[in-house]
Amino acid sequence: GSQSDDSSGTFVKMPTIKFTKLFIDGEFVDSVSGKTFETIDPRNGEVITKVAEGDKEDVDLAVKAARFAFDHGPWPRLPGSERARIMMKFADLIDQNIEELATLDSLDAGKLFSMGMSRDIPAAARFLRYYAGAADKIHGEVLKMSRPLQAYTLLEPIGVVGHIIPWNFPTSMFFAKVSPALAAGCTMVVKPAEQTPLSSLYYAHLAKQAGIPDGVINVVTGLGPTAGAAISSHMDIDMVSFTGSTEVGREIMKAAATSNLKPVSLELGGKSPLIIFDDADLDMASDLALLGILHNKGEVCVASSRLYVQEGLYDEFVKKLVEKAKEWVVGDPFDPQVRQGPQVDKAQFDKILSYIEHGKREGATLLSGGKPIGEKGYYIEPTIFTDVKEDMLMVKNEIFGPVMALMKFKTIEEAITRANNTRYGLAAGIVTKDLNVANTVSRSIRAGIIWINCYFAFDVDCPYGGYKMSGFGRDFGLEALHKYLQVKSVVTPIYNSPW
Ligand code: ADP
Repeated sequence: GSQSDDSSGTFVKMPTIKFTKLFIDGEFVDSVSGKTFETIDPRNGEVITKVAEGDKEDVDLAVKAARFAFDHGPWPRLPGSERARIMMKFADLIDQNIEELATLDSLDAGKLFSMGMSRDIPAAARFLRYYAGAADKIHGEVLKMSRPLQAYTLLEPIGVVGHIIPWNFPTSMFFAKVSPALAAGCTMVVKPAEQTPLSSLYYAHLAKQAGIPDGVINVVTGLGPTAGAAISSHMDIDMVSFTGSTEVGREIMKAAATSNLKPVSLELGGKSPLIIFDDADLDMASDLALLGILHNKGEVCVASSRLYVQEGLYDEFVKKLVEKAKEWVVGDPFDPQVRQGPQVDKAQFDKILSYIEHGKREGATLLSGGKPIGEKGYYIEPTIFTDVKEDMLMVKNEIFGPVMALMKFKTIEEAITRANNTRYGLAAGIVTKDLNVANTVSRSIRAGIIWINCYFAFDVDCPYGGYKMSGFGRDFGLEALHKYLQVKSVVTPIYNSPW
């Protein structure tokens, strides 16, 4: 990859940060302890601002507010159409503040500003509108019983929800979780990742402006093992929805089990295969391969971190890939020319570089990249390894960075077996012109979403989530609405019925 000029502040006017306190019961407040933590600009390692550090006591206050709003407040009791109206207003407010919101996520996470403007922030509004459209269409069924009984089901909101959000898509993940929960009539406590707290607090402000009643959305910024753990182990939270690493997912499930047995929805790590067959269009295949691992600097749970290329196309493909990787511009995420910003923080930066070193020691061939870029900030070159073996660490573990592991295969059967040779099962990509190959492979791979001749083709209507150790439960689509609802059956006898 080439490097752009990294001159902070040249491309976009930096906003003053307006919201840095916890949002509880409709008010911005300091943490009970008065503690704060720093959020860092990954372009240079400098402090952007200090944010209130919530802990157990703050989560308790937030849950109390959410509990009251659920048990006694208007939100769950409003007609769905009224919740929808308020959610639509929330979406409009996002549209009106799109530039400031995109700036916050770019500053906090090193995400491309252009992507925030065109994708992440508009998607937030789209999530709200999609689920608003469903809010007045939530209903149960009349059942056909085998005895003289009349029965129907009610769909009721599950209650107080805890949302624990990752740092790679601070906005999309916030709205993928908050929007269906709002439509369902739930109240909630949201904990954004400590790396990226800023936009969530802004959303809390917009929610209030839109007319979402106090206590319905509470945002507690803070660290995972303290504020996060206080959510998963809370006795008065009815359900937890989490996106993040498999390790933390396991902790959350344990905490849920040992506290009040709250159900959890876990969207966890991945090691998704992209399989390129001999008949693939070379341009399309190489573009998708690069996008699949370099989009959002590889900090994507569905990144195509295992690339399988069929032997007939392999040599030509590698040549093309290296050419294209050279043109991939790394640099300031506010620069419109740039395709890849800095990794989110020093910890991720160090972890990725150590995986690269380990790959070299294991005997993989470093074909391009492999080094950090520049003197400051957490930039890493797009990195391509070949001669990669199935048992190498870079094939087994989620790296969460711009590191491609390129492997060769011969037959369809081999591709399927190797693609499934992982404890994860989040996504997979297939590039071929042969419909039968595409159909066979997509049915044979155990993963929650399969992309044929595309990658990252997400849409709010399209559910996704994990098989195997990538978790369970689905985000997006009406599937996600149903995880915030529960079914109640109501049964009465029918006396003297001729039926
Ligand atoms: P990563 O390892 O990529 O930083 P994590 O899975 O650690 O991702 O983080 C995702 C979210 O989970 C963050 O909001 C983080 O604060 C939170 N978290 C981390 N540890 C815990 C924990 N023990 N309990 C609850 N939440 C946690």
